[in-house]
Amino acid sequence: MPKPPPRRSLVTGANRGLGLEFVHQLLARGDHVIAACRHPGRASALNQLAGQHPGRLHVLPLDVADEKSRTAFAHELPLVTEGIDLLINNAGVLHSGERWGSVSAANLEDSLRTNAMGPFLLTQALTAQLVDGATVANVSSMMSSLSGDPDFNAPSYRISKTALNMATLMLARALAPRGIAVVALCPGWVLTDMGGSGAEISATDSVSALLQVVDAVGPDRSGQFLDRFGATMPW
Ligand code: NAP
Repeated sequence: MPKPPPRRSLVTGANRGLGLEFVHQLLARGDHVIAACRHPGRASALNQLAGQHPGRLHVLPLDVADEKSRTAFAHELPLVTEGIDLLINNAGVLHSGERWGSVSAANLEDSLRTNAMGPFLLTQALTAQLVDGATVANVSSMMSSLSGDPDFNAPSYRISKTALNMATLMLARALAPRGIAVVALCPGWVLTDMGGSGAEISATDSVSALLQVVDAVGPDRSGQFLDRFGATMPW
């Protein structure tokens, strides 16, 4: 079973949306949190939280899509923690309004770099800092699913999240010898900048459900795609 809270938890894309809510809830339960975001200087909510939780929240720069940034982050991380018990690969991008005939290479490439390559290569770069028995949670989406006859919308996002699911499976296999569980999680349709105002659930409810799922994940569930209630999602 994974280590019970408090843990040393790392969240990417932590400055807003689901990422910021993960940070709130992880701090509330006593974790030591490393919040990674592209522009810490502009991350006012995170910096305010850091002031309220001295020594328990570190805000570090990380662009998950950028190799140099990932490498610099991996070097900086040991300065603030000796290990990571929980890695939440949350950062993600959705390029809306894509139309067949004008889907751009730039959007597709950015989506793949951010949503699939980022989590895979960041996890690889942090392998030495993940403790044995750690949990890696990749925030995927129901839009990744190959089943269910999906409409043609947000193709770059869908393609990249489907790739993230396979990245999850590959990470699960690579890290199994160390008892590290890697899962893909579907947060539901959530009220954030990405989810929009028509979404179904609050970030608070989504994250609290996801953390219960994460807490229950052990090596037996590694390589699975789970919804926020812990049920298996169709690939
Ligand atoms: P959001 O409100 O748009 O926030 C996205 C976060 O990701 C921001 O912090 C953003 O940072 C960060 N990010 C984007 N590209 C990045 C990069 N290259 N490096 C580092 N950080 C980067 O989205 P959200 O709804 O919170 O989504 C969080 C995760 O949940 C995503 O993986 C998303 O695909 C997934 N998800 C969301 C929903 C939903 O309904 N909301 C549903 C299914 C899955 P900046 O502020 O610097 O842009």
